[in-house]
Amino acid sequence: MAELFDKILIANRGEIALRVIRAAREMGIKTVAVHSTADSDAMHVRMADEAICIGPPSSTQSYLSIPAIIAACEVTGAQAIHPGYGFLSENQGFVQVVEDHGLKFIGPSAEHISIMGDKITAKDTMKKLGVPCVPGSDGGVPDFETAKSVSDAMGYPVIIKATAGGGGRGMKLAKTAADLEEAFRTARAEGKAAFGNDEVYIEKYLGTPRHIEVQVFGDGRGRAVHLAERDCSLQRRHQKVFEEAPGPAIDPETRARIGKTCADAVAAIGYEGAGTIEFLYENGEFFFIEMNTRLQVEHPVTEGIFGIDLVREQIRVASGFEMSFTQEDLEVNGHSIEVRINAEKLPNFTPCPGKVTAFHAPGGLGVRMDSALYTGYSIPPYYDSLIGKLIVQGRDRPEALSRLKRALGELIIDGIDTSVPLFHALLEEEAVLTGDYNIHWLEKWLEEKFE
Ligand code: ADP
Repeated sequence: MAELFDKILIANRGEIALRVIRAAREMGIKTVAVHSTADSDAMHVRMADEAICIGPPSSTQSYLSIPAIIAACEVTGAQAIHPGYGFLSENQGFVQVVEDHGLKFIGPSAEHISIMGDKITAKDTMKKLGVPCVPGSDGGVPDFETAKSVSDAMGYPVIIKATAGGGGRGMKLAKTAADLEEAFRTARAEGKAAFGNDEVYIEKYLGTPRHIEVQVFGDGRGRAVHLAERDCSLQRRHQKVFEEAPGPAIDPETRARIGKTCADAVAAIGYEGAGTIEFLYENGEFFFIEMNTRLQVEHPVTEGIFGIDLVREQIRVASGFEMSFTQEDLEVNGHSIEVRINAEKLPNFTPCPGKVTAFHAPGGLGVRMDSALYTGYSIPPYYDSLIGKLIVQGRDRPEALSRLKRALGELIIDGIDTSVPLFHALLEEEAVLTGDYNIHWLEKWLEEKFE
């Protein structure tokens, strides 16, 4: 008989730590927050049942310190660890240590994290599981001569990617054969410098794709479902800023088809917990780019259209329970949009930490604000600049858009600069209102707007 954990530790900070605490509390599970000395006054510390300081401000010595986190579990008697996103969430070494200490990692196995963490292995695995991939080199490209012959045969433009890359780093575009050598060299150097691995591969560069990602969920015992897709095409420097579900360009048949392909693939490998299979979508075709083996920042839009708590499900299956729904139970309901609010100053998006002199979250029907801000809080300069996510839900896309505009108007964050003005401006754009954009649209718009 499966039994829920009594107490879990959250190895993260900010809004996602709060997100996990909220789910745990509804399930009657006690929570332990960990924090650096810079985060003593942070909201997750106040909201958890217990809090433990695990080190100095630098993340390498605190939120990324495996011994400190394991020790915090042992001291508090937490039985499981939720990693949130970022930090240790996709670190297979961490998962191994967690298991070696008789604790449970709330997420997939070390093996699945490792397969998907290497983009060449991930692509190869997905291809074998029947998932369509971007045309490109067969695995790694060892030298420039190989890169040249692969690219010449495929035709330009091409993109060189570091197999260990992530967060938009380790990717270089070669528009023509003349750019190839430079792109090949810099992608390798970036891969080596940022991820300690200089292996690269080559993909056809798609000119006008949308970014479509399928949410999957597995019970770790061969049963898996999909929870439709999110469209995250509005990106700056390969980073998402505005996400929605369902995708405005995806019809129900297409959704069911790609969703089933993804669910079958993760079922076949016995995947456990939440995962996201990311695609580029162009001219009616899907091309796999990568899989994220964790909860995503933008998961609330999926929760919005299905009315399902994904963190609750993660904790349930980690405790050994079945998922609380089947594929047949899952029906798309309305439309949901999320905007990522960063402590950044436009137009250059320079990080802008500091003291929040006033904070007021919007409310009302269909509005969700996931944020760890409060009036008087000082945003420390050491971490990611994401300070909140505003998520709205409407019966359809136009209703969600007008609700977003209304909610943005109610939001007050004083004392620091934020990316909120960007969203006010975007909501005046025809392309955003009609959903007619691809992954390059926002960069071009920013150039024209702020040149
Ligand atoms: P990361 O792991 O750094 O997030 P991804 O492989 O997920 O890298 O790609 C991130 C983004 O880069 C995509 O959403 C897309 O905007 C762009 N991109 C990736 N591969 C291609 C490609 N083959 N053609 C065009 N754009 C691409």
